[in-house]
Amino acid sequence: MPARTGQEYLRGLQAQEREIWLRGERVKDVTTHPGLAAGARSIAKLYDMQHDPALRAEMTYVSPTSGERVGLSFIVPRTREELERRRTMMLHWARTTCGMVGRSPDFMNVTYATWGAAADYFAQNRPEFGENVRRYYEYIREHDLTLTHSLINLQRSRTVSGTYNLQEGTALRVMRETDAGIVVRGARVLATLGPLSDEIAVYSPRLPQMTERHSPFAINFAIPTSTRGLRFLCRESFDLGRSHFDHPLGSRFEEMDAIVFFDDVLVPWERVFLLGDVELVNRTAMNTHSMAHTAHQGAAKNVAKCEFVLGVALLATETLGNAQLPHSEERLAELMLHTELMKACMRAAEADAQLDQWGVMCPATLPVEITRNLFMTAYPRMVEILQLLGSSSFMIIPSEADFESPLGPDVEQYLATDNTTARDRVKLFRLAWDIACSSFGSRQVLYERFFASDPLARARTLNAIYPKEELMERVRAFLSQADRGEG
Ligand SMILES: Cc1cc2nc3c(=O)[nH]c(=O)nc-3n(C[C@H](O)[C@H](O)[C@H](O)COP(=O)(O)OP(=O)(O)OC[C@H]3O[C@@H](n4cnc5c(N)ncnc54)[C@H](O)[C@@H]3O)c2cc1C
Repeated sequence: MPARTGQEYLRGLQAQEREIWLRGERVKDVTTHPGLAAGARSIAKLYDMQHDPALRAEMTYVSPTSGERVGLSFIVPRTREELERRRTMMLHWARTTCGMVGRSPDFMNVTYATWGAAADYFAQNRPEFGENVRRYYEYIREHDLTLTHSLINLQRSRTVSGTYNLQEGTALRVMRETDAGIVVRGARVLATLGPLSDEIAVYSPRLPQMTERHSPFAINFAIPTSTRGLRFLCRESFDLGRSHFDHPLGSRFEEMDAIVFFDDVLVPWERVFLLGDVELVNRTAMNTHSMAHTAHQGAAKNVAKCEFVLGVALLATETLGNAQLPHSEERLAELMLHTELMKACMRAAEADAQLDQWGVMCPATLPVEITRNLFMTAYPRMVEILQLLGSSSFMIIPSEADFESPLGPDVEQYLATDNTTARDRVKLFRLAWDIACSSFGSRQVLYERFFASDPLARARTLNAIYPKEELMERVRAFLSQADRGEG
């Protein structure tokens, strides 16, 4: 089956009867539910881009097995050019969503492309698991399926020392093995895009805390979101049913986050990719290099988001007439720095990419990881800058209805600036507000702080991969020069 259209994606969601709960009610059809439908339409638009004659060549490639054109984020890049092609494709999607849909389907497509190529990693102790992951990758590529993923266990208590406690009765674990598969029970967070996905992937990047060699908590599998016993509990929707004028982002890009409950869910054997093996589960992201590939997807999203926020800031200062003030320029320059740094790291990761042991062209680990680390603090700061530039203008945002009310003429007269009409000013600042002040915008900040795990874990990863010895050696050499009384 070739790359899907938006219609096919939406029909796929309708066809699977899933347990999605939102505000105390079971959602019958996510494609028509007022809190979820617009988000589903935005994802559908991404799929439609695969069929746009002007973009088709950049969005798809020829499947090595079926010969059909399939989504380019599924590609296993073998050359730097293929890595760059994949980035171009991901940037098209990210720019379409203004970088506001972090979990567009390419995130998981890239993960499984890496894992499919590195199937030997999964096969080390159980050869069948390698075959399972390779076949699953081909299956989702050929059916162009949408995946959510859930990595973190709910934590009942944080008093126990160590991060990510695995508490009996709460954390997801294997209850038993049967002829048909494994039965799992527990709760996981946080499945972004969960209600809008065909499948859910469950694995874990958290591994120093799993120290035994074999553990019922050490798992890696994927199942349809319609699997019996699986329940998604959504947070409140930030799509409040308002117009694109009033809520420009919330009315389009609600990707939704959900807690996932597993009530004795059967995972068929062919969908199990790792089981019990703490060592392999612990090292999956690092050793298969999926960590670098997902960061590459994240970098494309970050670039699109930086560009968009900077664009809004530039228009906001032009509208208010404060663009030339020295501290506006200082703040705009900081946004420019983040934007260009993000692009530079992404390019460096591609330029220094190398083939790994599976023949996959892997983005250079350090610069690509830095795009992820940096954005955890850069994005909140970018939002802060936007607030500093706009000040009370974030509150001078009457709704579309106010323009039609008896106060309309006052609004039109008094809210105009030297550079723009009242309507254009408000339209722009409602967008800036949806980035910097609304519930949609706050969630974006939280997302960037935490979606790639907690900042502590990322800092530790950076410490683990940074080539420290070379720098220390240089300082040692300098010190010994001084000991010898040189220079
Ligand atoms: C909007 C959003 C979307 C997300 N989407 C997904 C998704 O799609 N899939 C997915 O799997 N996950 C997702 N996540 C979850 C994300 O992986 C976690 O939020 C992240 O890993 C942090 O875990 P936690 O929330 O349980 O934080 P906690 O463990 O509660 O940590 C909270 C804070 O305490 C600190 N802390 C905790 N323990 C210690 C300690 N022992 N010592 C010092 N400091 C400590 C942490 O550094 C952190 O700052 C999402 C999160 C958000 C906010």
